[in-house]
Amino acid sequence: MRRPFIAGNWKMNSTRADGIALVQGIASNLPADCSVEVAVCPPSIYLDAIVSAAGDSPIGVGAQNIYFEASGAFTGEVSAAMLKDVGCQYVILGHSERRHIFGESSSLINKKVHAALAGGLIPIVCVGELLEERESNKTADVVAEQFYGSLAGVSAEQMETIVLAYEPVWAIGTGKVATPEQAEAVHADLRKVIATRYNSAVADKVRIQYGGSVKPDNAAELLSQPNIDGALVGGASMKADSFLGIIAGAK
Ligand code: PEP
Repeated sequence: MRRPFIAGNWKMNSTRADGIALVQGIASNLPADCSVEVAVCPPSIYLDAIVSAAGDSPIGVGAQNIYFEASGAFTGEVSAAMLKDVGCQYVILGHSERRHIFGESSSLINKKVHAALAGGLIPIVCVGELLEERESNKTADVVAEQFYGSLAGVSAEQMETIVLAYEPVWAIGTGKVATPEQAEAVHADLRKVIATRYNSAVADKVRIQYGGSVKPDNAAELLSQPNIDGALVGGASMKADSFLGIIAGAK
């Protein structure tokens, strides 16, 4: 049984005060018996403040990126150990904005995945196709290639702890959500890829989130699909009501 996991990716948005108010608003309205794992991923400058604001609530905190080296002359970068030091539990890696705006390759993401695991963080590893790749029927190949490249050298024990996020690039921030059937088909394919690379026991354990224009009104149907184990949410994670509405859809 895979525990549903809803994570909010704040991207380069919010202020310190708004972020604190947001996490407190989510924490104070989460149902006491919430069976869903919940995390927020604020900009790195606010991580410390958001970890404090989350306090002893069940809300975990994640970063949106790391560098793969442990320390040293890497101006502007943040290590896994630094994130762990401020109380982070997760890190989003390979988000399409990192892949396509910042030119991150699967081999760079792979180094970051190993650094995150070595530093005790749970990587949320994103994969997803561009619109033109979907239109030319390349979705399965693109997603499998990103999976193999980003997760090379990861052991079965490590794989069981990693969270995957299938995020079709054409659905991110566009309001064009994948249909539940489209998303489920890719999630099911991805689970087969995990079973081929590892085995079916590992494939059964790995949680695969869907991301791309998830909102309270489409969450429940997406999350009811057998291979969709949660959501990585951008825009709708910036308001407590809408994020809570998505969490409610995961039950
Ligand atoms: C994301 O950035 O990971 C994302 C899914 O964004 P949105 O929900 O806004 O499409």
